[in-house]
Amino acid sequence: MLPCAAVNAFKSHLAAVADYPYSKHDARVKLDQNESPEDFPPALKARALERIASLSWNRYPELHAEDVRAAVARHEGWPEEGVVVSPGSNLLVLALAEAAASVIDTSPAFPYYKGAAVASGTPYRSVPLGPAFALPIDGLLAALDAAPGVLFVPNPHGPTGRLFDSADLERLAARARDRDALLVVDEAYHAFAGSDARPLARANPNVAILRTFSKSWCLGGIRAGYLLAAPRVAAVTRALLPPFCIPAHTGAILLTALEAPGYVEPLVARIRAERDRLLGELAKHPEWKAWPSASNFILVRTPDAGAAHARLLAAGILVRRQDHYPGLEGCIRLSVGTRAENDALLAAAFVR
Ligand SMILES: *Cc1c(COP(=O)(O)O)cnc(C)c1O
Repeated sequence: MLPCAAVNAFKSHLAAVADYPYSKHDARVKLDQNESPEDFPPALKARALERIASLSWNRYPELHAEDVRAAVARHEGWPEEGVVVSPGSNLLVLALAEAAASVIDTSPAFPYYKGAAVASGTPYRSVPLGPAFALPIDGLLAALDAAPGVLFVPNPHGPTGRLFDSADLERLAARARDRDALLVVDEAYHAFAGSDARPLARANPNVAILRTFSKSWCLGGIRAGYLLAAPRVAAVTRALLPPFCIPAHTGAILLTALEAPGYVEPLVARIRAERDRLLGELAKHPEWKAWPSASNFILVRTPDAGAAHARLLAAGILVRRQDHYPGLEGCIRLSVGTRAENDALLAAAFVR
């Protein structure tokens, strides 16, 4: 890029800011973003569209999506004051990183924790995962002792798929409370594991939970997620989001989903069954090593991530390279697709 003096108008830490690591490719079988392979159910889509048509598009939506907030609170059994709805849980990551005295995460981890810390100029530290991607509990406790801040732990973990012990999360939560820190458990994938950090967060105001409509709810294109937190934590986070930031049409779609959430569980059961079938088949691969997964994706070590990605893409299958992460040399990540998509993946993976 050419030098441009206009960037001198920006804060100097933004010299280090980088765009989110994603490159777009077209492919018949899309297994690169851990989306639901099935669309939002057609009957619900029709209901949401009717609802959108009946709105007055000239009017602003609610200040903080109060109607959606109330529906999320009911769905999750969480006090309404502790719920924050945002256009994607990533925006909540950014708000929390802006609010944070410092950001701590694991390495590797979902890249936007660091991205949000860098964008907001917040000091950032990361602690490497242990053997077999174990939670580095001693390192994280030491990091919380060294300086309070916001600790992001995805559970199940992205990009490894590992589910951490609740006893370990309890230890982190207790230390967060002792040190005036905040443990944020990112439960983007909890439905696929059957895990639930709400009991921990109910018992400890220094724990907050991020959840999203992007994965198990089949609504990745709609951009919505939410925070479950103590009321004061929620109030600060909400204040860092722009006013009226949930569009009226988004609200209509979310309310429709929250009124009929019964479609999620059978979808999750199909994904879990397909995940376990894929893991069973991939275990027979002569060169690839798939790690166990509690999520809707599988991390695979290959001899050469670039070659594996290119070979699958040539067969019409798009996966995500993960070999830019320290410790994930040779790795690719496969989202679990429909049965037919997974069959296509397996056929391409086993071609020699
Ligand atoms: C997919 C994902 C999310 C979801 O982000 P949205 O902005 O809600 O789409 C959050 N955290 C992790 C770790 C994810 O993989």
